[in-house]
Amino acid sequence: MKFYPTELHTHTQHSDGWQTPAELVKAAEKLGLKALALTDHNTMSGLREIKSKIMTIINGIEWTTFFGHILVLEPDFYVDYRGIEKDDFDRSLKELRKADATVGIAHPFRLGNPFCTGCFFEYGVRDYGLIDYVEVWSMSEPAAGYENIRAVKFHRQLLSDGHRLAVTGGLDWHVTRQADGVFARTYVGIEDSIELSGKVLARGIKTGRTYITYGHTIDVTLDGEHIGGEVGSGKVLLSYSVSGKENLGYLNKNDITAKEIRVINNDKVIYSSRKMKDASELALEKGWIILEAHGRSGSTECPVLMTSAWYVV
Ligand SMILES: [Zn+2]
Ligand SMILES: [Zn+2]
Repeated sequence: MKFYPTELHTHTQHSDGWQTPAELVKAAEKLGLKALALTDHNTMSGLREIKSKIMTIINGIEWTTFFGHILVLEPDFYVDYRGIEKDDFDRSLKELRKADATVGIAHPFRLGNPFCTGCFFEYGVRDYGLIDYVEVWSMSEPAAGYENIRAVKFHRQLLSDGHRLAVTGGLDWHVTRQADGVFARTYVGIEDSIELSGKVLARGIKTGRTYITYGHTIDVTLDGEHIGGEVGSGKVLLSYSVSGKENLGYLNKNDITAKEIRVINNDKVIYSSRKMKDASELALEKGWIILEAHGRSGSTECPVLMTSAWYVV
C-alpha cells in the first residue's frame, strides 16, 4: 500500500474562494500534492474548469447549510443538498450512499461568523454509519486549535461508540496565500496495483486508509495490517518508521519536529517512545487504536501526525 499526499477541502471563485481553479491547481502542485479535492460551497461548476497534469482531481462539493457543512466526494450522480430536512438528515445521507459518495463532516466545531454560516455541526445524525470521515484538523496550525481539539475528541467518541470513521485534515483553502502557513496534509492509502483516480482516493478515505500530518510521513502496520485495518485483541506486533524526508524543505522552513510516538487504545496511551523507528509487541483491548507523533511547530507543542484507527475485534 502506498500513501499519497492530498488536500481535501478547497474553494474557488465558483463559490466564495478568491482564487480561480487554475490558480488553486498551480499552488497545490507547488506543494508537491498528488491529489486535490475541489469542494466549492453548494456547486460543482468549478469541476468543468479544473485540470492538472500532475495531480489527480477528486470531484467534490461542500454542502453548506445553516446547521452544518458536509464534504461530499466523488458521488456517482448529483445529489441536491436542497433536499435536506433538519429533523431527518439521515434521509439525505442515504441519498449520498446511493450515489456511492464519500461523506465527511467539515470543521464540526468552528464557530460561525457572518461569512461562515452554519460552520458548527448541529444535525442530529441517527446513524453515523452513513458518514465516512471527520475533518478533525481544519485550516492553519490545526493541531493546536481549540475547535480542532474538540473535533478529535468527537471523532474518538464516535469510535468508542462503535462507529468507523476516518480522520482527515483540510486547509479550507479560499485564498492562495493560506498555503504559506503551517497546515496538514492528508495522506490516503491505495493498494499498489491500483491506478490513482478520484474515485479510488475517495474509496481509500471511506475505508479508513488515512493519516494527517504537518509533513512527516509514516510507514506503520499492526500485525501487518495497514491503517484502517482490523486486528485481533491480545498481543500484536506494532512496526513503524517516521520520516521527515518527503517534505524536508517545508518542515525546516516552518521549524516542525516530531519527538515522541504515542499509541492510543480506547483513549489510553499504551505505548510511547522517542524512537522514530521501532517494532514492539502490544497488548490490545477490543475497540480502536490510533498512533500519534507529538512534537513541535515553532514554539507550539502539539501532535504533528495522527493516523485514522485500526479496529481491534
Ligand atoms: Zn465549511
Ligand atoms: Zn469550506
